[in-house]
Amino acid sequence: MTNARILPRVGVLAIQGDYDAHARALADVGAGPCEVRKAEQLEGLDGLILPGGESTTMLKFLEKHNFFETLREFCAAHPVFGTCAGTILLAREVRNPVQDSLGILDAVVERNAYGRQIDSAILTAPSALPGDELEMVFIRAPRIVSVGSAVETLASRDGAPVLVRQGNVMAATFHPELSEDRRIHRLFVEIVSIHKALLEISGENQL
Ligand code: GLN
Repeated sequence: MTNARILPRVGVLAIQGDYDAHARALADVGAGPCEVRKAEQLEGLDGLILPGGESTTMLKFLEKHNFFETLREFCAAHPVFGTCAGTILLAREVRNPVQDSLGILDAVVERNAYGRQIDSAILTAPSALPGDELEMVFIRAPRIVSVGSAVETLASRDGAPVLVRQGNVMAATFHPELSEDRRIHRLFVEIVSIHKALLEISGENQL
């Protein structure tokens, strides 16, 4: 088997926001990143990152281009990782204001919960990941107000989860792609690789 066949192909939703930094982080941890702007480009991908940006702008684009439903189906069946606005898109419920979302992550999320753009912050805190404390870059971040019982909290800020995992779904309210630490992207790519391997064993993903 060649390396190209083993490499997990991870898409980055490239409508708006900091998708480029995610693509670089994915490449750093050995995944093949692909920019996704159309529903057809999801075909053949093993996982997807929904980056930060402005969730309302992304939503409008998805709805206008008939992409919302296909994206929801992909996210329900594959590993996905949302960061900041991506977390808002994945949530079950969005507040401040109420807006549509994919309903993939069992969480209630409040937008812009830590103040205005100027109040963005870089914090360092312990996490459930092995190794040192985690640097967390918050930019007009949402707050995860509540999570369902299947959601595991991997890091918190002031008692609120900021990095969570629900099976094959990961979400961060900060921007791991803007830090040099690649542990979070590595964990996501591990989840993608395991999911891909299991599909191949069960014969659902013929190469
Ligand atoms: N404030 C943005 C929103 O509500 C999210 C900010 C970000 O992704 N950095 O969509």
